[in-house]
Amino acid sequence: MSPAAMRTRPKVLLAGNPNTGKTTLFNRLTGAELRVGNYPGVTVECITRELVLDGGVSVELTDLPGAYSLSARSAEEQIALQALCGLDPYPKPELAVLVIDATQLARNLYFTLQVIEAGVPVVCALNMQDELASRGVEVDRERLEQRLGVPVVAVSAKHGQGLAELGRAVAKVLEKPSLGQPGPRWRPEEVELRADVEAVGQALPAEWTSQGAARTEALALWALLSIDEQDELGGIDPELRRTVMERRRMAQEAGRDLDQAVVAGRYGWIDRHAPEFLEEQPERRSWSERVDALILHPLAGFFLFLLTMGVVFQFLFSWSDPLIGGIESLFAWIAEGIEALLPAGLFRDFLVEGIVGGVGSVVVFLPQILLLFLFLGLMEDSGYMARVAFLMDRIMKALGLHGRAFVPLMSGFACAIPAMMGTRTIERKRDRFLTMMVIPLMTCAARLPVYSLIIAALFPPGEIWGFVPVQGLLMVGMYVFGTVIALVCAAVLGRTLFRGPRVPLILELPPYRLPKLRYVLRMMWQRARLFLSEAGKVILAFSVLLWILLTFPREPALERDFGAERNQLALQELSPAELEEKLLVLDDAESGERLRASYAGRLGQALEPWIEPLGFDWKIGIGLIGSFAAREVFVATMGVVYGVGGEVDEQSPNLRDRIRAESRSDGKPTYTPLVGLSLMIFFALACQCMSTLAVLKRETKSYRWPVFLFVYMTVLAWVSSFFVYQGGLLLGFG
Ligand code: GDP
Ligand code: MG
Repeated sequence: MSPAAMRTRPKVLLAGNPNTGKTTLFNRLTGAELRVGNYPGVTVECITRELVLDGGVSVELTDLPGAYSLSARSAEEQIALQALCGLDPYPKPELAVLVIDATQLARNLYFTLQVIEAGVPVVCALNMQDELASRGVEVDRERLEQRLGVPVVAVSAKHGQGLAELGRAVAKVLEKPSLGQPGPRWRPEEVELRADVEAVGQALPAEWTSQGAARTEALALWALLSIDEQDELGGIDPELRRTVMERRRMAQEAGRDLDQAVVAGRYGWIDRHAPEFLEEQPERRSWSERVDALILHPLAGFFLFLLTMGVVFQFLFSWSDPLIGGIESLFAWIAEGIEALLPAGLFRDFLVEGIVGGVGSVVVFLPQILLLFLFLGLMEDSGYMARVAFLMDRIMKALGLHGRAFVPLMSGFACAIPAMMGTRTIERKRDRFLTMMVIPLMTCAARLPVYSLIIAALFPPGEIWGFVPVQGLLMVGMYVFGTVIALVCAAVLGRTLFRGPRVPLILELPPYRLPKLRYVLRMMWQRARLFLSEAGKVILAFSVLLWILLTFPREPALERDFGAERNQLALQELSPAELEEKLLVLDDAESGERLRASYAGRLGQALEPWIEPLGFDWKIGIGLIGSFAAREVFVATMGVVYGVGGEVDEQSPNLRDRIRAESRSDGKPTYTPLVGLSLMIFFALACQCMSTLAVLKRETKSYRWPVFLFVYMTVLAWVSSFFVYQGGLLLGFG
């Protein structure tokens, strides 16, 4: 191998404030299809792709999460620092492309200055050129370039303009790094602050100080502002920590505000020089501000939001219905095909009931998930979602949650898995973990089929006051119930386990934009894929396992000899209609006996003493066992339990009828509306999702939190169902 080939490719980082178009640019440059959103904090992981520049140089391009500044106390923003400065374990980057939202130039320059200070070779991409004119902003690119001392290229990532120039600028700086390394633009001047920086600089670990005085000073400034009693930074040298704390204490005693001095210093530099390259038209009350006045209004805005969500869910249910029907017919058709092709037997049953049924029960969720993400995507990309977060901040804060927790909680309506991953935009670990602990209480799409089945089977259709449909009201009620409990739990956990100071919401309102359908569709597909791969595997595996548990042992010893009873029937003198009826009764009794004798039946019976106080019998017990893998497995399991077979889902009239007709040994119906309510409450609160636990383990890097989540939710579910059922009995609703 030639030495040139052995040398690794130059590493180029895309960095900048959130929502400046980094990912859009990344996708444009590399042809990747990462998720873009008109909402700060969409990119939560570093993603790297190879990029070949015009001159044939190939680089490794990494899309970093957005950061407002390098000096922050969260582990997340420490990653940005380490990646940019090439501190252990990150390799030293050859270059950083700073993506700047030109319409927010002054604010974006703060971070730009910090990165330049840190001595990383920089090229600035002045993005959103297409929006400048309409926003009344003019930027003099050349003078900005002179002032910053690094190449500045005007681009529009969305429209693919200026990319070739950007590539050329990158290639140039890679060849001659000093072109992008002008040295710090702003340096602390006050004597006291200089002394602080000096002292901290001497305490820096050797690895940090090996690259010259400017870099040392930048890292000392970073440490001085970032390390404090409550930071969540990892791997900070104890000697350094001690020195910083000492300097901070001294400053405090002298009545100096270190943070203020540094922040004001950098912004002072920006304000002094901005008139040279920036011209902003005096405030004009644009249409977007007028819209904001309504949307952000504490009362009107709140009702507008409720209305929006009402409309969204209405569409969600009415549009997904025909799609779900189509999927079911498709799987029924496949099952019939297999039955026609293969001889009857264990293998055919396995294929039809285990595999086709299992895959079907996964795919049947897609319409709702896709539609929910379509609506969330439209809300996000238009800029509405960020405003909702802003609107909700006050309520969230009252509940002890961070304002940014709102969107992950909303996504929890679709699926807890992407929602938990979405909490990465919350800076502090405490806020983040608290949010993750309550997300699974939000009514995810998997509860929907369970609620639908129970409501359709046990609650009569009809209207209250002549126009409010009972069934719809119950469904909305379950959503409200889940949300209220989630918020109550957040308030309780936030005041006990996760007590701590509040961190204010820093969220800029992105401009309103016409959503780009391509992005929204792409996001829908990505989320759907995530669901299919993370949840689908588990659901499929469990439906196969369940099929085995329900099918074996193959020839159980039954208490009654059904063969003999059938023969006896044949000997009696009965009309054909009577005979058929009696045979059907026998068939039912036999499949009931078989079920009871199966492994699943035995498990259900073992569980029965535990769930009887909630109003559940052992057959529901079988359904519950399955549902702890994933809630939606419940519907399919009940289908198997009641021998409906084939295309089982919450809409099957067959399954509904069987459930309605089911009776206990004493002849009373097994399922009353009260049992239904108790069952729905159990599903609302219990932690029945393996995939959620797996994701939580990955996000918290510990087994402690998944175990805690599972225990607290399941106990909560049991206790709530207990009170509802027993209370209902006392009130005479049995
Ligand atoms: P990131 O958070 O920095 O990765 O930003 P994204 O790439 O997710 O983009 C944020 C928003 O800005 C999205 O709505 C993009 O469509 C939009 N956007 C990105 N680049 C441009 C651009 O050049 N012009 C306009 N008008 N919008 C852009
Ligand atoms: Mg991004």
